[in-house]
Amino acid sequence: MQPSGTFGPGSVLGILGGGQLARMMAQAAADLGVLSHIYTPERESPAAEVAGRSTIAAYDDAAALRQFVESVDLVTYEFENVPAETAMLLAARKPLQPSARALAITQDRVTEKRFIEALGLPLAPFRVVTNIDELDSSLAELGRPCVLKTSRFGYDGKGQVKISAETDAAGAYAEIGGVEAVLEGLITFTKEISVIAARGYNGEFKAYDVCENEHVDHILSVTRAPARVRTNTYEGALNAARRIADALEYVGIIAIEMFVVEEGDRETFLINEIAPRVHNSGHWTSDGAKTSQFQQHVRAICNFPLGSSARLGTIEMKNLIGDAAENWREYLAEAGAHLHLYGKRESRSGRKMGHVTRVRPDENV
Ligand code: AMP
Repeated sequence: MQPSGTFGPGSVLGILGGGQLARMMAQAAADLGVLSHIYTPERESPAAEVAGRSTIAAYDDAAALRQFVESVDLVTYEFENVPAETAMLLAARKPLQPSARALAITQDRVTEKRFIEALGLPLAPFRVVTNIDELDSSLAELGRPCVLKTSRFGYDGKGQVKISAETDAAGAYAEIGGVEAVLEGLITFTKEISVIAARGYNGEFKAYDVCENEHVDHILSVTRAPARVRTNTYEGALNAARRIADALEYVGIIAIEMFVVEEGDRETFLINEIAPRVHNSGHWTSDGAKTSQFQQHVRAICNFPLGSSARLGTIEMKNLIGDAAENWREYLAEAGAHLHLYGKRESRSGRKMGHVTRVRPDENV
């Protein structure tokens, strides 16, 4: 649904999800005078703590969803696993951005890869697998090592398993639950990078500088901006992001993760995945860019003018995972470090508790 009238200060933004991404979206909305209503099944959530209103209900609770959607002017979400029926129910009543179509394509690795392939953009070699025979023949075609990923509901390395020379394929398939999956060639990459960009209703497109990401145990650990890649990679990555956003007629912030690979003395990239939402690798923009990804998302979906995506220096964003957030005093005492804590009461191993961003001013920006 296109915006019928205009949104403005005083409009109510419905946000599906109660985690840190929703929290930072609600904070950014508040800066623009836009109110937030969080919808989450969690009883105590980082987002509800900072939003004026919240509904605690399951994502498939039609009655609660109807009540929620009546109380808001538009709806967005912090995660791509929003059930299709939920998206349809909401989109039939109020503008839902990013759209139900963008959500449907990107929440399933199979449709996402076919969509990227149809645009002629580079991907790791892949095969769709729905049973063990297909897995065997796909392994024969692609050769080992490979990565087997569930087509849906994977995140932070969950729902995926590496298949090396010794791996028992049937065991690996059982490990991911025997569901529809994608088998991908294992890529020897030199770096992982991402593009975070916003697109408005009128097609206006503003990307942040490409950043590079370091993962530990499949979880993002550090993002640095700008990415130290060659100019053709940099421009190719931004161009690919624009083509994807245009083809999806996308509205809001989109994140595209890519692998940088070397072929002889050439450097190039392969697209790994698309996230139809604000993204952890864009957290640096809150302190390191003129407009944060959260505010830019609110601006885009509310049909407000987009802000400048200019970077303010050389950036390092570090996730504070598990007990790493216990060093909060040190970060607060450090000049030039910007600390963000998500208000989660309990720290668990692998849980994202906050992040700290260091911005080193450049002479030339
Ligand atoms: P994903 O859930 O697809 O984002 O994968 C999580 C992480 O696993 C990526 O950020 C990579 O570090 C690694 N990974 C995923 N797919 C591949 C691949 N085809 N080749 C090498 N590493 C991969």
